[in-house]
Amino acid sequence: MSVNSPGPIRGSRVGSTAARASSDVVDAPRITIAYFCISGHVTKPVFSKTVEGDIPLQWTCGECGLPAGLDPENPPEPPVNVPFKTHLDYVRERRSEEDGQALLEEALGKLRNRFHSDSSSTETHYRK
Ligand SMILES: [Zn+2]
Repeated sequence: MSVNSPGPIRGSRVGSTAARASSDVVDAPRITIAYFCISGHVTKPVFSKTVEGDIPLQWTCGECGLPAGLDPENPPEPPVNVPFKTHLDYVRERRSEEDGQALLEEALGKLRNRFHSDSSSTETHYRK
């Protein structure tokens, strides 16, 4: 078995290598690897067999985004930082609606004050 074409995963290049048997390209061997996440999902990405040695040990679950591993009995632990949480989610966890409203008022108040002091500061600028 000779697999010595280190090029990218084949499939998009047609024409320049027309001399070669095209069936060789079309039937590029593929393998499906099953990854199991801790939530019980199974994700099955398809790899070109030419990268068999480079099959990643973990894959991201297509259902829940948690890491999925090759061993169904022993799926990888979810990371401490659960993915798919936006910055806004964290902010919402820390602050209630009322807090947010108060903060907004405060910020707006500062803005208004700044506008006022700015417009007056142009006058005070000329003061001696
Ligand atoms: Zn999952």
